[in-house]
Amino acid sequence: MADLTYSDLFRDAQMRLGDYLTPSVRLGVTGLSRAGKTIFITALVRNLISGGRLPFFAADAEHRIVRAYLEPQPDDSVPRFDYEAHLADLLSSPPAWPDSTRRISELRITIEYRSASLLKRVIGLSKLHLDIVDYPGEWLIDLPLLDQDYRAFSSEALALAAAPQRAKAAKPFLSFLAGTDPAAAEDEQIAMTGAKLFTEYLRGMRESGAQSTLAPGRFLLPGDLEGSPLLTFFPMPLSSEYRLPRGSLAAMMMRRFESYKTTVVKPFFNEHFARLDRQIVLVDVLTALNRGADAVADLERAMTAILKAFRPGANSWLSALLGRKIDRVLFAATKADHLPASSHDRLEAILKVIVDEAISRAETEGAGVGTLAVAALRATRETTAKHGNEVLPCLRGTPIKGETIGGVTFDGATEAAIFPGDLPIDPESALSAARSQNAISLELVRFAPPKLADTLADGRPTAFPHIRLDRALDFLISDYLA
Ligand code: GDP
Repeated sequence: MADLTYSDLFRDAQMRLGDYLTPSVRLGVTGLSRAGKTIFITALVRNLISGGRLPFFAADAEHRIVRAYLEPQPDDSVPRFDYEAHLADLLSSPPAWPDSTRRISELRITIEYRSASLLKRVIGLSKLHLDIVDYPGEWLIDLPLLDQDYRAFSSEALALAAAPQRAKAAKPFLSFLAGTDPAAAEDEQIAMTGAKLFTEYLRGMRESGAQSTLAPGRFLLPGDLEGSPLLTFFPMPLSSEYRLPRGSLAAMMMRRFESYKTTVVKPFFNEHFARLDRQIVLVDVLTALNRGADAVADLERAMTAILKAFRPGANSWLSALLGRKIDRVLFAATKADHLPASSHDRLEAILKVIVDEAISRAETEGAGVGTLAVAALRATRETTAKHGNEVLPCLRGTPIKGETIGGVTFDGATEAAIFPGDLPIDPESALSAARSQNAISLELVRFAPPKLADTLADGRPTAFPHIRLDRALDFLISDYLA
């Protein structure tokens, strides 16, 4: 073997030191069901790996990203985010949207870059592990349960179920409760029936568009707990002087509620949530605006609950539990490609009003909280159409099968130019319109994913089209790549 020169030895030492010192950043990606988590992560990873166009991501704009690639994740106990399967769905012919997030998963992407700092370059600090942790936003809604006993949980859940807009969905569960005595002997069959009806009510609300604060979150997205006794409980009406007799149904419900907290909710926060450094919360603002008052109210309640998890007040029990690790939280309104470019800033401005108000409702501070409108994977192209003397901004894309506009039903294969309408210029008035019963009327159709080739003519992977994904990356990790 040839003798090693000093410069070889130096390079070797530099590499080892670099590996040892490789920093990692844990980025949480969350949002309620269908908000766009799976697409966001898949598109983000693809654009990093393929060297996509990311002009507002400083390290990329300055040509300092050398390459990015997947590596084995650090946590063996968490399922891997199935990037390859999601990518295969998007690249299939015809392209299909992949399955959505149903549980926690993780993916490590390593970014090699040239540091802007001379010192970092000399000691070989030029790598960053980006550990992306995908988890359902519904699980965050459970955080307040840790501070509640069964009695408080029940009275809150039953007050919500009694609200007029929930009456229809809640009826079977409430009639079951009316015929069930909390003092009766504990009974597994009754527990199962009650939990099933309670879950059906929660699901019914979600399907009707409620985004919401409907705890317990695992009832909606059980992850690996489907069918577990941990999820076999329901709220019962108990007056404050009522004592729970031993062996009663109510005592059984209370026991299960406490187990749910200690074996499901707490471990998630201790083992996963508390270890995050940065967080993006994806929010489907457009759908809520389009559905109107109840959906907007639900979204706003959910945002307040989510903010409390990330920005607990300085003296709250929560900050004692979680510490204060996450220093940047980005709220992103997803699917901005359903609107023409002129409305992207407006969507962002509406989200900012929602977030600012949630910050004040949550009685917390907004340091390190950002807002953005994005489309992680752009399914439409901008175009214009003439309507009389007017030129209207339109979107060209393939509406998915069965979508309708003005009596036209789409077949899922034909491209169409759609005029979705514009959001109002003033975000406050847009929100107050959406909060009153008249939703902002936009012509929203769901589009199929764009047709994408896997590779370019020279064999390199294609980048995916997006809107402002680069700004999201810049907010979330740019300082780690300085
Ligand atoms: P989650 O994993 O449950 O948060 O949600 P997904 O990422 O699976 O997204 C749910 C659905 O929203 C997808 O199947 C798409 O139909 C749509 N969607 C998500 N992101 C985008 C986007 O950037 N553009 C468009 N046009 N649709 C999107």
